[in-house]
Amino acid sequence: MKVGLIRCLQTENVCPAAKCFQAMREKKGAFADCGEEIVCIGVNTCGGCPGKNAAQRARHMVRQGAEAIVIASCITLGTPHEFPCPFHRKLTDTVRAAVGEGIPVFDHSHDAPKKHRAKAAAAGDESGAAPGN
Ligand code: SF4
Repeated sequence: MKVGLIRCLQTENVCPAAKCFQAMREKKGAFADCGEEIVCIGVNTCGGCPGKNAAQRARHMVRQGAEAIVIASCITLGTPHEFPCPFHRKLTDTVRAAVGEGIPVFDHSHDAPKKHRAKAAAAGDESGAAPGN
């Protein structure tokens, strides 16, 4: 499966996305149930707070061959800083709407410790379970 990765601009300067790529390579985290090889065809950021460019960038990656979009764990689970994106639910929803129902959107990439998940559950909007639960 060809995927495009959307990551947090605020995290980009400290994280090389190594755990995202490891999860894809080793079929872990969000990709644990994927039977086929995961090939990342592109990486882009949300564009900076409040993430308004994420949807357009995701759509562009679909035009360039992505069959699924991955919202990186730095956005939805707050790795590595225990600081989930305060806009992560809206960001994910707008990406889903932009790419349409035929394109799966993964709500995280790699797994995160429980302490991250607790913060993610409280961030982003009013309700709903933390990604990956
Ligand atoms: S909108 Fe969220 S994902 Fe984008 S830079 Fe800001 S905190 Fe990071």
